[in-house]
Amino acid sequence: MNEFDFINRYLKQQTQDAQVVLGIGDDAAIVRPQAGMDLHLSSDMLLENRHFFANTAAADLAHKVMAVNLSDMAAMGATPKWALLSVALPKLDEAWLNDFCEHLFAIAKEYRVCLIGGDTTKGNLTFNVTIIGQAPSGQALRRDAAQLGDDVWVSGQIGLAAAALNHHWNHVRLPEAVFLQCEQKRLRPTPRVALGEAILSLAHAAQDVSDGLWQDLAHIAKASDVGMNVDFALIPTLSELKAHSEHREWVLSGGDDYELIFTAPKSAREAIIKAGLTSKTSITRIGEVVKEAGVRVFENQVAIELEQKGFDHFHE
Ligand code: ADP
Ligand code: MG
Repeated sequence: MNEFDFINRYLKQQTQDAQVVLGIGDDAAIVRPQAGMDLHLSSDMLLENRHFFANTAAADLAHKVMAVNLSDMAAMGATPKWALLSVALPKLDEAWLNDFCEHLFAIAKEYRVCLIGGDTTKGNLTFNVTIIGQAPSGQALRRDAAQLGDDVWVSGQIGLAAAALNHHWNHVRLPEAVFLQCEQKRLRPTPRVALGEAILSLAHAAQDVSDGLWQDLAHIAKASDVGMNVDFALIPTLSELKAHSEHREWVLSGGDDYELIFTAPKSAREAIIKAGLTSKTSITRIGEVVKEAGVRVFENQVAIELEQKGFDHFHE
């Protein structure tokens, strides 16, 4: 099999939507924006031995590269529409490609995203997806839009992916059932697209938790020129993790959760709770937007001190 067999046999197979004028096969894809809609564009890349272990299953890789990108659309409140996938593969292995593409198209179908192009090259296993979504013009859950007095909300549970990663690194031994639950979350995060859409007209600011809750909350606070007070006891996590001494670090600075954090006015509380229900996503109010800059996390009224508040690829 060569590069073009791969493109024709594995990639060119799926249906397009009405806005795709031209899909895979030419020098560029063509999409027609809808009147009254803004396009949202984002890229996320996964590298072997940096973002995933070398023995990660093809289906898990397909899931993750799509999920992390879908999560960026969710964090904007945008509806994901189209994706471009660039891959470097050491070889064209049919069994591997079958698994990868089967899952790639399954998740694309689930989220109604069309693969419209990409690039394929030989090299160390690397993935990059560029995703394009749309939302009504002028509406978006931007990081710089949090307002004084807003509630701070988070979806799902936090700290599970970090716990699984620490188990892999032999920093901790989780009980088998707990590990499997955390590992599922690490390998197969659920992009909160339906929640993002449901809160678009209610919430002020949002982002997804990819590099650690504390650091990601701080991004919103800084961009919005406000601060946040968060109650540690309210942050949803897996109760079995609480027995571990590193539990606070997993929750506050572990990454890879791909949950949404967002701020919304107190007056929207009931509507936000409803949005959680209609999008079938658990959401929890964990704090408040305040004037004093920075993010403070309190446990029994005492501010927690943490050295490392999140992940930074270039941290030394
Ligand atoms: P070019 O030479 O212009 O880079 P290619 O031969 O790489 O074009 O690609 C041919 C077509 O296949 C293009 O439409 C491109 O977008 C698509 N394509 C290539 N690799 C991928 C991929 N990994 N995923 C999706 N589409 C791809
Ligand atoms: Mg190319």
